[in-house]
Amino acid sequence: MADITNQSLNEIIENVKTKKISSRELTKAYIKNIENAKKLNAFVTTTFDQALENAKQFDNKPNFDQLLPGIPLAVKDLFCTENTKTTAGSNILNNFIPSYESTVTKNLWGNGSFLLGKLNCDEFAMGSSNETSHYGNVINPVGDQLVPGGSSGGSSSALAADLTPATIGTDTGGSIRQPASFTGTVGLKPTYGLCSRWGIVAFASSLDQAGPMTKTIKDCAIMLESMSGFDEKDSTSINKKKEQYSKNLKDNIKGLKIGIPKEYRVDNMPKEIDELWEKGKNILKDLGAQLIDISLPHTKYALPTYYIVAPAEASSNLARYDGVRYGYRSKQGKDLIEMYEKTRSEGFGDEVKRRILIGTYVLSSGYYDAYYLKAQKVRQLIKKDFDDSFKKIDAILTPSTPSSAFKIGEKTNDPVSMYLNDIFTVPVNLAGLPALSLPAGVDKKGYPLGLQLIGKALDEQKILNIGYAFEKNCGFKNEIKKWWS
Ligand code: GLN
Repeated sequence: MADITNQSLNEIIENVKTKKISSRELTKAYIKNIENAKKLNAFVTTTFDQALENAKQFDNKPNFDQLLPGIPLAVKDLFCTENTKTTAGSNILNNFIPSYESTVTKNLWGNGSFLLGKLNCDEFAMGSSNETSHYGNVINPVGDQLVPGGSSGGSSSALAADLTPATIGTDTGGSIRQPASFTGTVGLKPTYGLCSRWGIVAFASSLDQAGPMTKTIKDCAIMLESMSGFDEKDSTSINKKKEQYSKNLKDNIKGLKIGIPKEYRVDNMPKEIDELWEKGKNILKDLGAQLIDISLPHTKYALPTYYIVAPAEASSNLARYDGVRYGYRSKQGKDLIEMYEKTRSEGFGDEVKRRILIGTYVLSSGYYDAYYLKAQKVRQLIKKDFDDSFKKIDAILTPSTPSSAFKIGEKTNDPVSMYLNDIFTVPVNLAGLPALSLPAGVDKKGYPLGLQLIGKALDEQKILNIGYAFEKNCGFKNEIKKWWS
């Protein structure tokens, strides 16, 4: 059969189910693509032999009733995978082989899929460009000089380059939605607690959430359905009935009320982003939705609040990397304290060190009230803005990012300009809400741009439905030339 790796996950599943392609043929086709795409540096580890073995087992005893029958999938290297190295993009975990499987990956495998490899990411998911990874930066298939976004940059790059039919990332402040926007793909950050955090290398535990990255909305619904669900191993996991997001997908959005927050029109925002937003509003209006101007007055505090809360939690979560139980250990150091110091200073990269310093500072006695406690209070106000608005609307439409993909190296010497890239994505994490980034158009240079749909807590189905209707009417096609192979 002709190469089908450029098809959507849903189409590929149909091809497997109708036996037009076997799982083994499919797996071989992805392996070939991955081998031809080394320049993108999207993978930290590949598990080809195991994948071929899994595919063979599937073909010998196929179960076509599963959601992901015989589908090979690569995942972000932040998900612990049993007996397969998991680095979190860090030198400090360069030899870490987990003895357990994260719940979300286990759920994916339980639905018929298997691992193809582990995808590069910013170190401990801290970054917006995949340039903080110890394993080198990842290239955006859209252009050889461009970052793929971050921190799930290996995931967005691999997906857009047809190296995996779908993938998963994590989103603490935008790490699924921003790379999706930069590569013309779909990314969903689910409601906090919908997908288990168990077995995911922790960054900021009150914000971290795993979610799907896909080529289409239907694929996104299939992946979310496969990976989500209650998990008693995660105390923040929500105990609710499992939804059938893909079966319940509807493209009728007549009468839905879509909020347009005035605070998302920021100073110096490129005209193209504004125009894209207008285009999105018009599409939804033409489909029968009603646009309603809303105000989320505390939006301007979201970024500073995030850059206090996230480093505070990170500094605490990363205290466990001391070279004793697992991971990298420095050979230097005369005594225990010096071994800790050298391990951490050699094991962590600059951005991670910066976060640990900031986090330790904002939590230290004397500064705790002024920074951390204050940030927690502001976080509640940000959440309240959303709660108040959602009394009168169904969803919110905003741009996903204030720019298209930027050049490698362009922002590495200016952390604040890097952090500013998260301006539209972080409020959602602080409020624990679901948000979808949809490919919506391209800028003058032809680089993809995304729009964001924010929903009420646990209203994933509604934002997927709006996205589904939008996708059918937006006319966006991700035209990527395979310059790397
Ligand atoms: N870019 C943001 C940061 O560096 C968000 C990262 C993420 O969502 N993991 O903190």
